[in-house]
Amino acid sequence: MGIKRFHYARDVEEALSLLAAYEGRGALLAGGVDLARGLAPEVEGLIDVTTAGLAGISADGGGLRVGATTTLEAIRRSQEAQGYLGGFLAKVMGHVATLPLRNMATLGGAVVSAHPWADIPTALVALGAEAVWQNEELTEKASVEELYRRPFRAIFRRALLTEVRFPAWDGAFAFEKVARNAGDIALINCACGLGLDGEGKIAWARVAIGATPHRAKRLTAVEDFLTDEAPSEELWAEAAHKMKTEVEVGDDMRASAEWRRSAAAAIVRRALDRAAKGVTGDA
Ligand SMILES: Cc1cc2nc3c(=O)[nH]c(=O)nc-3n(C[C@H](O)[C@H](O)[C@H](O)COP(=O)(O)OP(=O)(O)OC[C@H]3O[C@@H](n4cnc5c(N)ncnc54)[C@H](O)[C@@H]3O)c2cc1C
Repeated sequence: MGIKRFHYARDVEEALSLLAAYEGRGALLAGGVDLARGLAPEVEGLIDVTTAGLAGISADGGGLRVGATTTLEAIRRSQEAQGYLGGFLAKVMGHVATLPLRNMATLGGAVVSAHPWADIPTALVALGAEAVWQNEELTEKASVEELYRRPFRAIFRRALLTEVRFPAWDGAFAFEKVARNAGDIALINCACGLGLDGEGKIAWARVAIGATPHRAKRLTAVEDFLTDEAPSEELWAEAAHKMKTEVEVGDDMRASAEWRRSAAAAIVRRALDRAAKGVTGDA
């Protein structure tokens, strides 16, 4: 692939100084499952960041902090992730590809590769997860949702994602994915979260949809529609109907826009029902 040198970065500073020294001809390498499929021809040096001390998961109040080089399988199995939102994030990891891939792929790699068909960005956008990154001058942070509105590929040519922070939520989330088989990528996916107020009405709602085939987005019109309403099967059906008019879908080699519109409504309805049961303890 034209690689001339391979470096094991001992820490974040070394990774960043190597990256800067290559002046665009170096690339950060984590699990490599994505990078191995296509590396820019100008890249001469690979900088392995899995040795930079970034892996790890810790509970943070009711939230969670996950180091960028933590593998997807380590998240799936960790007690901290299983204790966060009833294991929601750990369960999402179980939907990603296959075990050998999850043993290599990292959360940071998933955030930066940001495939429109991927499941992880959908969950991260719904959860309001915050990405933390560092370049040679400063440390920056932004919600993953906001990051994807910025030229993030250019940002990560000069910066290292160090951590993803997950906020505490008083409620429950559910994830749904439709794929041709368990190990395949999504034809459509969604993550929905709900919290209830003291009267049993919906205090907040989060609805994110991905693989439309565009990258994950929140549907704030559907979230607003649900807020202050009482949870019910009828409400999920109405939200699903609204979803059909709000969601931006397209055709690709995997599915038609028409199919995606119907499937999006069906999985959001199912996820809302599961999230509501999660809040009330009926799940
Ligand atoms: C066959 C296959 C099936 C898949 N199936 C699914 C699926 O079902 N659901 C799903 O959600 N995803 C899926 N994915 C996507 C997968 O989750 C990501 O490709 C993976 O997480 C990338 O992580 P990595 O550590 O291997 O990244 P790498 O390949 O090492 O890197 C990917 C990119 O991110 C950059 N990068 C990596 N770490 C950092 C960092 N810390 N800071 C800055 N830049 C960084 C690299 O320079 C590179 O540009 C699949 C991928 C493959 C190849």
